[in-house]
Amino acid sequence: MRKELETNINSLELKIAKASKTVSKNLGDIFLIAVSKKKNIEHIRTAQNLGINNFGENYAQELEEKANNIDENVCWHFIGPLQSNKAKIISKYADWIHTIDRKKIADKINEECKKINKIINACIQVNISNESTKSGINPENLMIFAKYVDSMENINLKGIMVLPSLGENNKKQMQDSKLLHEKLVSVFPHAEYLSMGTTNDFETAIVSGSNMIRVGELIFGKR
Ligand SMILES: *Cc1c(COP(=O)(O)O)cnc(C)c1O
Repeated sequence: MRKELETNINSLELKIAKASKTVSKNLGDIFLIAVSKKKNIEHIRTAQNLGINNFGENYAQELEEKANNIDENVCWHFIGPLQSNKAKIISKYADWIHTIDRKKIADKINEECKKINKIINACIQVNISNESTKSGINPENLMIFAKYVDSMENINLKGIMVLPSLGENNKKQMQDSKLLHEKLVSVFPHAEYLSMGTTNDFETAIVSGSNMIRVGELIFGKR
C-alpha cells in the first residue's frame, strides 16, 4: 500500500505545483486535506508516514473511532453534513469543521466547544450551485451569517467551503466562489481560506483561486 500511496501523493503534488504556478503560487501555498472517509487506519498511518498530516472525515462515528486510534499529531477536518445530535462528538475530535451552515448548528458547536474549553476552526459552507438538494447557506446570506459566526467565542472563522457542481458550470461557480471569498476577506481578513476542489476538479479550483483542497480518491484510491 505504501508504494501506491507514495506514487499517488507525489503525482498529486506535482499537479498542485503546476496549477499553482499559473497563479503565481507554490505547492506550499495550497493547504491539502487528504479525505480518508471509508478508508482504514492503516491508510491514514501510511499517508502520515509520507508526510500528510491533515485528514478529512464525513461521519462523526468514523471520526471518533479513527481519532481514538491514531496519535494526536493528526489534524482532523470534518467535512460531512452536520447534525445537532452529532455536534458533541465532532466538537471533541475535529480540529476544523467545514460545513457550518445554520445558526442552530453554530450555536450547538460553540456550546459543546465551550464545555471542553476548545476553540475550533470553522469554514462556512456556501451553496454556490444554488441546488436545493445541497447543503450550505445561500451566497447572499454569507456576510450576515459570517458576522454571527465570527462573534462566537469558541469558533474561529477561517473561511468558506464550497462544492461546485461538476460539468459545464464548474468553472463559473468557482469564479463566483472566489469573488464571494474576496468579499468575505475584505471584512474578515482572518477568514483566509477558500476550501474548494476535490479529485475531480482540484486543478481548476487552484487556478480559480482556491487555497485549500480536499482530495480523497486520487490519494487513497476508489472508495
Ligand atoms: C468525499 C469528499 C471529498 C473528496 O472527494 P474525492 O472525490 O474523493 O476527492 C471532498 N469534499 C467533500 C465535502 C467530500 O464529501
